[in-house]
Amino acid sequence: LANGFRQAKNRLAGLTELNEQNIDTALREVRLSLLEADVELGVVKAFLARVKEKALGEVVRVKTKSADGSTVKVSAGDQFIKICHDELVAFMTAEGPAITFAEKGPTGIMMVGLQGSGKTTTTSKLAHYLTREEKKKPLLVAADMQRPAAVEQLQVLGRSLKIPVFNIPGETPLEICKKAREEARAKGYDVIIYDTAGRLAIDAPLMDELGAIKDAVKPENIFLVVDSMIGQDAVKVSKGFHDRLELTGVVLTKLDGDARGGAALSVKEVTGAPVRFIGVGEGADKFEEFRPEGMASRVLGMGDVVGLMKDFQSVVDEQKAAEDAMKMLQGQFTLDDFLSQIRMIQKMGSLKDIVGKMPGMDGMIPPDANLDDRELVKIEAIIQSFTKFEKNDPYSLVRDPSRVKRIAKGSGSPEQAVSELVQKFLFMRQMMQGLGQNMGLLGNIPGLK
Ligand code: GDP
Ligand code: MG
Repeated sequence: LANGFRQAKNRLAGLTELNEQNIDTALREVRLSLLEADVELGVVKAFLARVKEKALGEVVRVKTKSADGSTVKVSAGDQFIKICHDELVAFMTAEGPAITFAEKGPTGIMMVGLQGSGKTTTTSKLAHYLTREEKKKPLLVAADMQRPAAVEQLQVLGRSLKIPVFNIPGETPLEICKKAREEARAKGYDVIIYDTAGRLAIDAPLMDELGAIKDAVKPENIFLVVDSMIGQDAVKVSKGFHDRLELTGVVLTKLDGDARGGAALSVKEVTGAPVRFIGVGEGADKFEEFRPEGMASRVLGMGDVVGLMKDFQSVVDEQKAAEDAMKMLQGQFTLDDFLSQIRMIQKMGSLKDIVGKMPGMDGMIPPDANLDDRELVKIEAIIQSFTKFEKNDPYSLVRDPSRVKRIAKGSGSPEQAVSELVQKFLFMRQMMQGLGQNMGLLGNIPGLK
């Protein structure tokens, strides 16, 4: 019964509850979209089950007007897609820094992944990034002794970036990595990036080799490099590496291609390791910190709906602001509300803009009607020093200068600031009431109709 009552009330208020029926189509669309983005089926199911549970019972406003007065229709399904998008962003948002730096001694970063995923390229890009963004002095380690040209490839990249590359011909990868650490300590390099060997598929000898390196050099960071074209295999591959190595992060490469990047989701679901960086081309600077927002839209592939929802939300905000403005103009302008209303005015853009849209109102607003945040803090302190009596009757400050003195002392502001604040308030109240009396003009405020 209580539920039925709530539903009826929500309906009257133009609100709708998300339920199995009204999100059904959207749910199917999202599922399909995630699968098309190459998110693994099990991951899709697990993700959607979580989001659905969260979304059901959420109450949403379903329809509103856009700023230009036309009707924006937003269905419960659209709302659900927006919730999926936001959940996707939250899920892919990483905690902590992308790279964990060692408290003392050089920081180790171990790059692992399948052959051709982009380890060697990413090693050099990451070094370039650390040099540029973190003012670090990295040492690259060529520890892929499988492929004949692997060492040379890294050396060429290192030379072009003026970043040294460490290798000992004929040595095992494990020995090379250990010696590289000694070298870095001796020569003052503060980051060591190990470029390791890969395979076409995960096998035991590779895992043993990587595991031994990990145990010996104890890198603070182990990044799995994943080709974004990997598709459904992302789950198997990342699990294989994670079980033996405990990944701390993922680099998703080749996002300059067509792949929608569903692997970002799969890998996170399976390993808990978030995507930290992305590769968006072959060049050294085609490397970026991972931004969940952009990736969520890409994975979901529903830019239109998500964009629409963003508009919708800004309209709701705008409408709230306009409603607040209405109250203000109707004379509910107390000193107590002064602060929040100034904040609200700032949120609306500028009072000047709004009043400027009303005929004949040019020049009504003093140029400093908008205040910056620091000023706002001062105003807050001043208003808090008012007694209740003074709040009810701000003119008392004009009549009795000793009150101004007391408030100035209490708030740590000069007396002049207190007086000016009172003047400003009185002026604004007068102006608001004047405007409010001419309610016919309000039709020109966008979003109010
Ligand atoms: P590794 O075997 O894991 O070391 O892979 P490589 O670093 O040798 O990269 C394999 C190929 O992928 C090379 O031709 C790279 O130029 C290319 N590659 C790596 N990252 C990217 C990227 O972000 N975008 C594009 N378009 N190509 C990339
Ligand atoms: Mg390589």
